[in-house]
This record gives sequence, structure tokens and C-alpha cells, in this order.
Amino acid sequence: MVAIDLSGKKGIVFGVANKRSLAWAIAQQLAEAGARLAFTYQGERLRENVSELAASLPGSLVLECDVSSDEQIDSVFANVEKEFGGLDYLVHSIAFARKEDLEGAFLDTPPAGFTVALTISAYSLIALARRAVPLMERGAGGGILTMTFLASQRVFFNYNVMGSAKAALEQIVRQLAWELGAKNIRVNAISAGPVSTLSARGIARFTEMLEHHRSRAPLRRNVTQEEIGRAGLFLLSDLASGVTGEILHVDAGYSIMGL
Ligand code: NAD
Repeated sequence: MVAIDLSGKKGIVFGVANKRSLAWAIAQQLAEAGARLAFTYQGERLRENVSELAASLPGSLVLECDVSSDEQIDSVFANVEKEFGGLDYLVHSIAFARKEDLEGAFLDTPPAGFTVALTISAYSLIALARRAVPLMERGAGGGILTMTFLASQRVFFNYNVMGSAKAALEQIVRQLAWELGAKNIRVNAISAGPVSTLSARGIARFTEMLEHHRSRAPLRRNVTQEEIGRAGLFLLSDLASGVTGEILHVDAGYSIMGL
């Protein structure tokens, strides 16, 4: 195995809620490779969880950030600038839609539900990247990674407005990859197969979906958090120095299947 050495590199990880979070799986791989990390938590309710996890990675920062607050985003990046001086990686692993917009008729999605899902799950990548880029420019460039799902392209009942948000997010990845490529900042996404996390369990019939994926995927199983973490490490590391604007499916092959 090729050793990936990220010592001296610094990253910020948005989206850890608990030890099952995909953001945590990616963070563990980055830290194991030597990167120093800052973590954000969304609201007081998650502070303890995130602080406990971050404490297992020496030198980590823990900061509050709800991405619906410009003030909190600004404060996070001001702290990161003060503590780290610059930034190499940004991990965006955030999604949210109101429960009532993840069930029933998509036709009935009201403007408020559409706006909140698209703002938190897709626009926030632009808002975070805008603050990260000046810090990345102080070094030799950087890497930005976000998390998407196949509902951006195919119909998954119950995903409703989250499918719209993931389609927007994937377009944002490509647009930012073009704009930031000249600064040697790469922007990629992982399209993950279903994994049982806090958010995923909010999707109606999620257990059924896990079983369906397991039986249809070429590898005849679901992916693990660790596999997603390792793919994240690959995309952010120099092993992927020629890769940007890419949506990498880490889904045991499910997305290639027709019948
Ligand atoms: P998770 O619940 O562990 O993580 C979701 C995170 O989003 C949480 O940490 C939550 O605090 C954060 N968040 C939501 N609203 C926020 C806000 N306003 N401000 C700041 N943070 C906010 O679940 P997860 O499955 O690890 O989800 C991470 C990402 O992976 C999401 O984008 C999700 O759509 C994507 N994804 C998950 C799966 C899966 O099956 N678990 C599959 C494909 C893609």
C-alpha cells in the first residue's frame, strides 16, 4: 500500500454528529495520515459528542457552526486562520431537509421546504468554500470534498427534495472545480451507498433500502464507513492530484446496474 503522508497539513471537517457520521470516518483517515483537524458542531446539542471524538485526535480544534448563520461561519474561519494560519482541506458532509418534505408527495413541496433543503445541503458548500479559498491560497492549493447520493440522478421514493439538493450540490462541485482549478484547489464529491447514520435513519424505509442495495450491488454488500473514509482520503491526497470535478461512487457498484 502506498503511504499517504499528510503531516503538516490542516483541514476543517463540517458534519460530525457522532461516531457513525461519514464526516468522522473521513476525519479519522485524514488524522491517521498526519493531518491536523478542526471540527464543527451544529448547536449545543452536539457539542459534547463532537468534543469527545475530537479529543481522541490530539491538536484538534472544536468550533460551533450552524451553516444557516453567516456570523458562525465567519467566526469559524477566523478561528481557523488564527490557530492554523492556512488550510489545506475542507470536508463538507452536511445535509438537511424538513421531515415533512422527505415523505408524501414531492408535488406538494412548499417553497420554504425547498429553500431550506437547498440552502443547507447545497448552497452551504459555496458559502464554506468562499471562506476556505483565501486560506488555501496561502499554501500550494487545497482540496474540497462533499458528500452526495445517487438520488441526484435517479428516483428514490421519499428522497423528494433531497434529490433536488444533491443534483444542485453536484453541479456546484463542477462549477467550483472549474473556478478554483487555476488556484490548484480541487473539488470532488463522494456519492456514497447507503450507510446507517443519524440522518439516514430519518429516511422512511431506510432499512429496506439497505437490503435492496446489498442484494443488487455487484459486490453483494453495502459499503462501510471506513471505505468511504478511505475514498475521502484518496480524493484529498496527492494520489488524486489529477482528479477534480469528479463524483466518485463508493457504493459497492450499485450505480452501474440496470436490471
Ligand atoms: P449525519 O447525521 O451523521 O451527518 C449529517 C450532518 O449534517 C450532521 O453532523 C448535522 O449536524 C449536519 N447538519 C445538518 N444541518 C446543519 C446545519 N444547518 N449546520 C451545520 N451542520 C448541519 O449523517 P451522514 O449520513 O454522515 O451525512 C453526511 C453527508 O453524507 C450528508 O450530506 C448525506 O446526505 C451524505 N450521504 C449519506 C449517505 C448515507 O447513507 N448515510 C449516503 C450518501 C450521502
